[in-house]
Amino acid sequence: MQQIPTGSLVLRETRPSGTVVVLPGRVEVGGRDFVVMAGPCAVESAAQIEDAAEAVAAAGCPILRGGAFKPRTSPYSFQGLGEQGVRLLLAAARRRGLLVITEVLDPSELPALEGVALLQIGARNMQNFALLKALARLDRPLLLKRGPAATVEEWLLAAEYLLAGGNGQVVLCERGIRTFESSTRNTLDLSAVVLAKQRTHLPVIVDPSHAAGRRDLVIGLSLAAAAAGADGLLVEVHPRPGEALCDGSQALMPADLRELMRRLSPVVHAVGRELWRAPQQLMVAK
Ligand code: PEP
Ligand code: MN
Repeated sequence: MQQIPTGSLVLRETRPSGTVVVLPGRVEVGGRDFVVMAGPCAVESAAQIEDAAEAVAAAGCPILRGGAFKPRTSPYSFQGLGEQGVRLLLAAARRRGLLVITEVLDPSELPALEGVALLQIGARNMQNFALLKALARLDRPLLLKRGPAATVEEWLLAAEYLLAGGNGQVVLCERGIRTFESSTRNTLDLSAVVLAKQRTHLPVIVDPSHAAGRRDLVIGLSLAAAAAGADGLLVEVHPRPGEALCDGSQALMPADLRELMRRLSPVVHAVGRELWRAPQQLMVAK
């Protein structure tokens, strides 16, 4: 088994108090607040991403997700809208005061990704070392997903590439691993979340959508992730999942997202955190 060398930057002992990744608008990942990032798997059209952004804002989540450069298993599947998708995503988010997370597949896409608050390194790129080295040189927050067949040590060593290359603004994301279980798309490895929180000072969030592959498990897994000490969620939501070009069966509907936020609140409080909610939502709730 690959061991993380003593003294590595990723290890908790190098920063026992923990790292807080600060995004624009003082949205902090890894601090007191539990942060929910939500949106469709892929940006598909202006109408779809506008409706998704509306649902995300209405639920009080601060960050809109949506893939524009998509890593698809089959070359015949929808590949994303690319630069046009990024423009639609940023416009929908800006109108509602949301931040944006989206995936970067290749450094050549970076000029198109200006304005994106959090750059996602996808599970299949966790050990794309050329990409890691290029993103390490940026002064921009990154989200590093765990590879579907990567050990926790390998995941943390991939993060070490980013830290050693000069970028300390890294959030980790557990998104399920490949196991013998076939009733779910992947198996959500919550022990990896607890272990990663012990081993590293970096924030750790959970993607229950790619872990489950099915909508009916997403809320339960999200509550479990919060109880296990995750710092937030990355969750797929689509205004009309039946029409989705990608991952529709695992997408929450807007009402499910509101239910998720409602049910998360007491769990997050039970572990001494606060659920990050947009200020206008707090006012509406009062
Ligand atoms: C995604 O978040 O849309 C995605 C492709 O996830 P993963 O890299 O975890 O498969
Ligand atoms: Mn997806």
